[in-house]
Amino acid sequence: MADWPNLHVSQHPAVRHKLAILRDEHTEPKKFREVVRELSWLLGYEALADARTQPLQIQTPIEPMAAEELADRIGLIPILRAGLGMVDAMLELMPTAEVWHLGLFRDERTLQPVEYYNKLPDHSHVDLCLILDPMLATGGSASAAIEVLKQWGAVKPVRIKLLNLIAAPEGVREVISNHPDVDIHCAALDRQLNEKGYIMPGLGDAGDRQFGTGKNS
Ligand code: URA
Repeated sequence: MADWPNLHVSQHPAVRHKLAILRDEHTEPKKFREVVRELSWLLGYEALADARTQPLQIQTPIEPMAAEELADRIGLIPILRAGLGMVDAMLELMPTAEVWHLGLFRDERTLQPVEYYNKLPDHSHVDLCLILDPMLATGGSASAAIEVLKQWGAVKPVRIKLLNLIAAPEGVREVISNHPDVDIHCAALDRQLNEKGYIMPGLGDAGDRQFGTGKNS
């Protein structure tokens, strides 16, 4: 995006195809979870394109060769609860990553984030933190999560990236103005938020749709 160099919206046709399934109100939770996982894998693949490697000497069945292995130590920070559905795909991509759950809920009245769970280790020992949250709506939770990570020790040279399936311009603006050093990777940039803070056209509540809740609330 020209205005927001830190925003990376996937242009991959497979991503666009899967997004349509995710957005469709008729998609049931089982299929929804499957597609969240697939999209997370594709987004993670793009977001990790600049991950660092180090030399690794191996032996193929034919001859020795100088290969590479991942060098970046990675922390995955799923924002509870909707971010949980993105974890498995990221662990498939980066099996040595650690997972540090962060519980932030959005106060429905003020739309402000409230922290209720934090499983960050005592000390920072990573090169790259990936925050996982399917929806970037107001940007309040994302900014708060980034702030928590920075306070904890994720400061330069540690990189922080935000992985979202769908972002709203309001959220992107909020995160980039508070944290211009953070890259945002998403599958789609939608039109705007509605008066309840939901992304339009969006996909509804990403937590409810993954876990089958919310139908009778
Ligand atoms: N969280 C969601 O799950 N959906 C939205 O549209 C906005 C925030």
